[in-house]
Amino acid sequence: MSDWTSLATGQTYPPGTLYVVATPIGNVADLSLRALHVLGLADAIACEDTRNTGQLLSRVGLQRPLLAVHEHNEREAAGRIVERLTAGERIAYVSDAGTPGISDPGARLVEAVRAAGLKVVPLPGPSAAVTALSVAGDMLEAGQGRFTFVGFLPGKSKARADAIDKLASLDHAWVLYEAPHRIADTLAALAAALPPARRLLVGRELTKLFEEAPVLTVAAAPAWLAAEASRGKGEFVLVVEGAGSAERDGADAPDAEAQRVLKLLLAELPAKRAAKLTAAITGAKTDALYQLALGQRGDGDSED
Ligand code: SAM
Repeated sequence: MSDWTSLATGQTYPPGTLYVVATPIGNVADLSLRALHVLGLADAIACEDTRNTGQLLSRVGLQRPLLAVHEHNEREAAGRIVERLTAGERIAYVSDAGTPGISDPGARLVEAVRAAGLKVVPLPGPSAAVTALSVAGDMLEAGQGRFTFVGFLPGKSKARADAIDKLASLDHAWVLYEAPHRIADTLAALAAALPPARRLLVGRELTKLFEEAPVLTVAAAPAWLAAEASRGKGEFVLVVEGAGSAERDGADAPDAEAQRVLKLLLAELPAKRAAKLTAAITGAKTDALYQLALGQRGDGDSED
């Protein structure tokens, strides 16, 4: 076997530096050789949860002093870390899993260290979003490789539905994180808001024993989840296909019945309210109805 440490030591690791280190999202073997080297070299490891990071370190045979930096103490903890860095220590920062700062704490600490004129060095590694995108195939290609990272949607159903409505017309893929206790609601909300044939990659438990990443239609996704009780458990990352050009150009356009209802309601109600009610009655898209209502009203109508 080759001496892997020589691969990691080719780079210099100056003192007085914060090393922001990505850690595995499930499989410990995904910890990079450089991450292993820097975690071993650090005078202390700042982490979101000392128990979690303690377990990771013991699985790779390392023991380092741990400093708790979580979303509730990030500011004060950052002050103490800046002092230690100023004294010449090397400090590594890790979140519970994946890349710090990506739907995880880390941004404030990085900001404080940089503001103090000290160096911040990133060590790349796993992230659930990029892992799922790497197997998204033509969902990614259709948007010329572009994607929008959303992270967690709002927890409340109205706010979540509004967020999905805004994302629905993007011409490229978007990436969501979801917790097990909300995945059923989120898949149902996507099925309710998006055209039924829109595709979705469901990355479940990636890199772990029961990992899977099926590509489904949004209409089929809720039934897929319900088909096996064990599916509702675990961690989820979703890649939602962008709206195709046909979909953007017309599939969302209100049909004749929706236009008739809108016209009737517009005679009595402000444009926004008429569009909302028409959407509830006919299932047509609120945004498209509102645009149509504004067009029918003319510029003079500014009551809403
Ligand atoms: N910083 C992390 C990253 O770079 O991916 C994300 C942290 S965020 C608090 C945790 C969320 O990431 C989970 O709720 C889940 O949505 C997603 N996630 C993390 N590990 C995953 C895995 N193994 N499979 C699928 N999704 C995962």
